[in-house]
Amino acid sequence: MLKGIGVSAGIGIGKALLIEEHSLSYTPKTVADTAEEIRRFRSAVEAFSKNTEKQVEALKVSAGIEEAEIMMGHISIVRDPFLQGEVEKRITGGACAEAAFESMCDMFIQIFSSADDDLTRQRAADVRDVKTGVLSLLLGISEAKIGDAPPGTVICTKELTPSMVAKINKENIAGILTETGGTTSHSAILARVMEIPAVMSVPDVMKTVTNDETVIVDGGQGEVIVAPDEIQISSYNVKREKQLAERRELEKFRGKATLSADGTVYDLVCNIGKPEDAPKVIEFDGEGVGLFRTEFLFMDKTAVPGEEEQFEAYKKAALILKGKHLIIRTLDIGGDKDIPYLGLAKEDNPFMGFRAIRYCLKNRELFKTQLRAILRASAYGNISIMFPMITCVEEVREGKALVEELKTELSVRKIDFDRNIKVGIMTETAASGVIADLLAEESDFFSIGTNDLTGYTMAADRGNSEVSYLYSALQPSVLRMIRRIIEEGRRKGIPVGMCGEAAADPMMIPLLIAFGLTEFSVSPPSVLRVRKCIAEWTKEKAEEVAAKALSFATQNEVYDYLKTVI
Ligand code: PEP
Ligand code: MG
Repeated sequence: MLKGIGVSAGIGIGKALLIEEHSLSYTPKTVADTAEEIRRFRSAVEAFSKNTEKQVEALKVSAGIEEAEIMMGHISIVRDPFLQGEVEKRITGGACAEAAFESMCDMFIQIFSSADDDLTRQRAADVRDVKTGVLSLLLGISEAKIGDAPPGTVICTKELTPSMVAKINKENIAGILTETGGTTSHSAILARVMEIPAVMSVPDVMKTVTNDETVIVDGGQGEVIVAPDEIQISSYNVKREKQLAERRELEKFRGKATLSADGTVYDLVCNIGKPEDAPKVIEFDGEGVGLFRTEFLFMDKTAVPGEEEQFEAYKKAALILKGKHLIIRTLDIGGDKDIPYLGLAKEDNPFMGFRAIRYCLKNRELFKTQLRAILRASAYGNISIMFPMITCVEEVREGKALVEELKTELSVRKIDFDRNIKVGIMTETAASGVIADLLAEESDFFSIGTNDLTGYTMAADRGNSEVSYLYSALQPSVLRMIRRIIEEGRRKGIPVGMCGEAAADPMMIPLLIAFGLTEFSVSPPSVLRVRKCIAEWTKEKAEEVAAKALSFATQNEVYDYLKTVI
């Protein structure tokens, strides 16, 4: 069995088709007729743009408009005035079109590949794709016949480029295997949207698999079986049928409102870490974002991202969400989330130390930069602000006072923002649960962070295996805390959501419905499953289950009981 990164779930069984890389080698020559060479280059650019436009149209049908935009980006690259100007300068200097174009592309690929962030690195793959396309045209090499692959084909390739995916006839492709790439690559996104099982970064796949050999691709597990025996094929076929049946069942919930069995409407939104995750919200049918963990914008960097960079990131997410709710959580660092360049002092007890809102309130300029960026982005969508790790009323008041100060500043500077922007808090500390009544007076909404709430209520570190038996949201203490937060929020008439992992737990869902939770914020791939789960409960039945669950004195009893009802 070969192992790789499962980037698109599902099981595919089919015959391998190896897509070999063309040799794009040529002998660089000095050209005398540079005007003719420029003409040759321009006509290759024209032909490339035309081909790509056709692929964009094909992708709109097979994957969707948003995904097709990935390919539109290739046209912008090839038509980039700087790139074109530099290539033509090199040709004027005597270089042939191939060498001039390749050297410019390689320069961009090198710059983009060494970037810190995933998105910029992804641009390197795009430029590589454009380079291959234009060089093939210049060299008169016809591209691999992916579009003609017969039904039941498993495509094997070193690197899968978006332009290759664009040529795929998805009915015929049982799976995809590559030697490079990972979950966030554009082609992985496309494979998921097209529902083609795919495993990427499988070492030496091109050497291990031969054309026409039978291959099983398990995109969920990231596993590949080459030349399986009959028993393996039939057991994977059974697994595949089961998965397809489940998926068909879940697909019935796509595009639907999130409703309980007695018709109460819930908000089912997503947790994201970067603006680049926002398309996943749409892809998986989330109704908005209940938690944007902004610390990821600060991690993997060497300095604090400036106001413009943050503004662009928040605006980008807001625009992708097209008016759907976007709750942006302010910087939640400390604890297990270190940002080396901030130089946080080593603490004996970092989870109880100088973190999140505590750090931000003491580092006002950094906090104000973030709040200003969020406020400016609020002109482009339906944004709310959320403070993490709240333990007392003063923290909320101070945070809100800063928001007000910045609103005044932006008004004076005549910069647009949402004047009615909501400011809510994460209720994720034991203190916030106990004073939920007082905090509800100060907040526009609550979002329960059960990941931390469980830890702080049980005084049990989420990463410590010695105490993991204590770390459960089904502990009677945690359940009472959750119920209290929801009830106090409701008493004050503010929405209460949950963005901790417990929001997607089928055992918790009836309890949350019974307590009166209004919003579930989950990872994008969990959306349809949670929508289905919610649809199984009436308030009456959920209340019955919750009353019984809360009558038990131990977590084990709660667990054993809930197992019998879901
Ligand atoms: C939580 O604590 O439940 C939460 C959602 O925040 P994080 O996991 O980012 O701490
Ligand atoms: Mg938390």
